[in-house]
Amino acid sequence: MDITFNNNAKLYIILPIIYFSWQDNIINNKEFKAISDFIEGQEWLTKAEKNFLKSKIDAVSPPSRSELAQWYEKISTTLAGNPKVNTLTELGLIISNTERPVFTGEDIQKIAPAFVKLETALGISASEIISNLSQNSTTHTHAHKTIESFSIPKMTALLDGNQAAIINSVKSIISTKAFNLDIPTDVNQFREQVLEWCKILADNGLGNYAYPKEHGGKDDIEGYFAIMETLSYHDLSLVIKFGVQFGLWGMSILSLGTEKHYKKYLRDVGTLALPGCFAMTETHHGSNVKGLQTTATYNHADRTFTINTPVKYARKEYIGNAANHGEMATVFAKLVIAGKDYGVNAFIVPLRNKNKEVLPGITIEDCGHKMGLNGVDNGIISFDNVVIPHENMLDRFASVNDAGEFESPIPSDNRRFFTMLGTLVGGRIGIPRSALAACKTGLATTIKYSDKRRQFGPEGAAEVPILNYRMHQRRLMPYLANAYALTFGLQYLTDRFVKRTEDQMQEIEALAAGLKAYTTWNTRNALQECREACGGKGYLSENRIDDLKNDTEIYTTFEGDNTVLMQLTAKNRLGEFRKQYGEMNVSTIFNYVVEQAKTSITEKNPFTIRNTDEAHLKDPQFHLDTFNYRERQIVESGAKRFKKLVDDGLDAFDAANVMHPHMLQVADSYLDRVVLEQFQAKIETVEDESLKEVLTRLCNLFALNKIDEHKAWYLEQGYMEGVKTKAIRKMVSQLCWEIRQDAVPLVDAFNIPENCLGHIATFKIEEA
Ligand SMILES: Cc1cc2nc3c(=O)[nH]c(=O)nc-3n(C[C@H](O)[C@H](O)[C@H](O)COP(=O)(O)OP(=O)(O)OC[C@H]3O[C@@H](n4cnc5c(N)ncnc54)[C@H](O)[C@@H]3O)c2cc1C
Repeated sequence: MDITFNNNAKLYIILPIIYFSWQDNIINNKEFKAISDFIEGQEWLTKAEKNFLKSKIDAVSPPSRSELAQWYEKISTTLAGNPKVNTLTELGLIISNTERPVFTGEDIQKIAPAFVKLETALGISASEIISNLSQNSTTHTHAHKTIESFSIPKMTALLDGNQAAIINSVKSIISTKAFNLDIPTDVNQFREQVLEWCKILADNGLGNYAYPKEHGGKDDIEGYFAIMETLSYHDLSLVIKFGVQFGLWGMSILSLGTEKHYKKYLRDVGTLALPGCFAMTETHHGSNVKGLQTTATYNHADRTFTINTPVKYARKEYIGNAANHGEMATVFAKLVIAGKDYGVNAFIVPLRNKNKEVLPGITIEDCGHKMGLNGVDNGIISFDNVVIPHENMLDRFASVNDAGEFESPIPSDNRRFFTMLGTLVGGRIGIPRSALAACKTGLATTIKYSDKRRQFGPEGAAEVPILNYRMHQRRLMPYLANAYALTFGLQYLTDRFVKRTEDQMQEIEALAAGLKAYTTWNTRNALQECREACGGKGYLSENRIDDLKNDTEIYTTFEGDNTVLMQLTAKNRLGEFRKQYGEMNVSTIFNYVVEQAKTSITEKNPFTIRNTDEAHLKDPQFHLDTFNYRERQIVESGAKRFKKLVDDGLDAFDAANVMHPHMLQVADSYLDRVVLEQFQAKIETVEDESLKEVLTRLCNLFALNKIDEHKAWYLEQGYMEGVKTKAIRKMVSQLCWEIRQDAVPLVDAFNIPENCLGHIATFKIEEA
């Protein structure tokens, strides 16, 4: 019979030493010599037993992984029952003697010195190894796993709010076979596929949701945003094509036109019988749309307008729906009457006939292949003196009267222009909501995969899910917290927009501009992290992160470049600050001084700036005070800086330019505060304790992670000391660790249709 450890229990006495020697996977010459000399010197071993033991330290034929696992099992079980063991020899002895006594006390006395010598020769710190071995089977890293501390359906209901019905209806449509996410690689096929999808959505009554009931719609703009967001779990070319057709093209008619335009166009736009474009951007004027050069010259003789592209770089560029399908466009052009320029206005211009033939005077080029969104047909349009009738001017804010004169209820050109743009703010709500959904798909795919994917682990034990690694958590959990925070932030924006009054419009526009930038940047960063967090799998198209990443990339630019939008938000905040404190009277000065004093007493005192108590660091009031302080300081110093620059003689344009980086911080600190407030307010409404608990944890992470990101600034300001910022960093890490356990249920609560998740999110691990 072959010798084994099992049938020759005394041999177990040396097993821990052999096992330890293989821990780094190789036995070096020194170890081999020390152990084989030891084996040779043991008179109580037969030759065959010596050969057997030596075969277990043979560098040419190392033990298999399963053999090592068996040894580990033996050792760890013994350690679990004998926690006080402190030498490897003692450990081996217990294993040998487990079933029946093999070694007597006398035997041990005889052989012990040789074992001690061997342990010394191998440089073994027995207590350290034993401590490592005994922890292996129960390491915290190993044992951490998914729990479900709250009800997922309840969380989904909270996230969906009053839009649950339409959200579920869209989800069931995009889960049908027709919406199989098998994206054609041929661009033309892809574009046709996307058009087909849009038709199905229109047939299901989703296109005209926001339009008035008398024109075929449901008069439900909130529902429209929920549709845009939910569609964004699916392909994003579909979302953008849908948004161009029903949002940009349709809503430009609704917002800038009047009843005659609604009657003539809206029904067909909403059913997709009339595909159209929103043609604002020109090659040389993208962010600065006031500088557009396309002209609409009024001809009083026949009451027409002539639309013309005066120079090559005034062509309408990047226009969605233009390259293949658009039959008409809302074209933004400078209105010229009798040689006088009346600023940018909007006109409906036919582009193609029903046979899709481009009309005379119109030239359309294809923008070609893009970084993403290749299912959308973007084109470049130029107009060579194209004549359109008088009624094609979208005349809600300006018109040309019967006498051929310009008329407008808003006399200032500037105000009229911004009022007109303001009505288009809906796009800046739809885009961030779409970006957030894309971010959630990426996070759900990545987190679900990371919970299953195992790499490394304690020696000899099973490998550990990568989501258990602190760094992996640190990379993903803050984005999960942001996703929840932004859900409530964008719901707030939508709500403000839906219930807007005239006097709130500027503030809402600034908020929409800022949140569009804030959310799309967050998506861009989160998806990059998701891509890397999935390793090679993140690069495969079947897992969708590539498309999500490439398609959302341009979200940071269209509907307004993010950096430019943040300036717009900042300008509004500085304006508000000046309104409040600019013309200081006795009462505002008093309020201001009281506010400053309050901060000094409660927040900037020597105790608070060093306070590292857990209760304090998790106090929502501390978070809000800290965010408010940053916002207030930055806006106040911004206003002061700007005034000083201008007082020192700098032109206001130059002063604004010097201030640009500061302006971005003004906007960022404002948006941080608004989002935190909304998160906290939402938690206040939650009654279910388990939901409240996990949401509070997420909100703490959102807040503390932001403070951690800006800790240099807080330290600069003396608002915190190093001990406190260190404690915050530690708490962020701890919160990531805790949230990891709920991370899978938290992404499950997004309730993303399974066909929209990456393959790695849904495959069973046994198939790997
Ligand atoms: C795929 C795609 C689809 C689009 N669809 C449409 C559409 O359907 N209809 C339509 O009308 N348009 C559309 N656009 C155009 C889009 O809205 C513009 O690209 C966008 O407004 C930015 O303009 P721009 O490309 O000219 O960039 P620019 O304005 O040239 O900006 C370039 C860079 O300069 C920076 N910059 C500019 N001004 C300032 C400043 N004052 N201070 C600091 N930095 C500044 C910006 O931050 C940016 O990084 C689309 C674009 C793309 C790529």
